[in-house]
Amino acid sequence: MRTGATGGARRTGALRWRSLSRTISKDELFSRLGLAPGQPVVLQALEDAGISRVAKPNISEEKQPAAAAVVAERFIRVCTRGDCRKRAPELAGGREVAQALDAAHCEVCSGSTNKSAVDEMVEAFRAVGWRRLCVVGGSPNARQDFESLVAGRIELRMVDGTLNHSGAQARTNLEWADRVANWGGTQLNHKVSTLYTGPKVIQFARRSVQELAKAMTESARRAK
Ligand SMILES: [Zn+2]
Repeated sequence: MRTGATGGARRTGALRWRSLSRTISKDELFSRLGLAPGQPVVLQALEDAGISRVAKPNISEEKQPAAAAVVAERFIRVCTRGDCRKRAPELAGGREVAQALDAAHCEVCSGSTNKSAVDEMVEAFRAVGWRRLCVVGGSPNARQDFESLVAGRIELRMVDGTLNHSGAQARTNLEWADRVANWGGTQLNHKVSTLYTGPKVIQFARRSVQELAKAMTESARRAK
């Protein structure tokens, strides 16, 4: 066990404040937000929201949550399939169409597969009497999508895998949850993911909401 190794309990020594504000390219930001790179309307929306000027090629990682919020509010991410483009306006709720990074991030076609996968997960949890799921990692958009699909049917704790997280917080979450999803392959720092170990923790390394739900469903079925 690595108890006490997180630094939180030790008050002696120099203040170990680690700045997490890395700079990333806007292409990387777009990819993290599930968007195809370089879309002028999105770049302009970020400038309009006071987050970053269009001309700047890079952005501070700290601004990612604010950028994600703007994207979620202003845009619907849609893949290039004709069917999805056609259906987008009725689902958009006034949002503009932006090009999704890929079909997995399309809010039209992936939205439906995500929804059935999450519904199945909720059922599988019910069948074994689980009510609490802690999700560690995932992109802000994916976490948001997942939460809105779960829609309060089970209790969720969503842990931002890019922020500092103490061993004590992790232990509280481990105790609280029926299952913990360690969402590798996403925005999950090693320092955060390694705090979560034990029989309740399910490790998997696929990015999509659908894969998260599937991994949890399998885990519930195995527990029967
Ligand atoms: Zn699509």
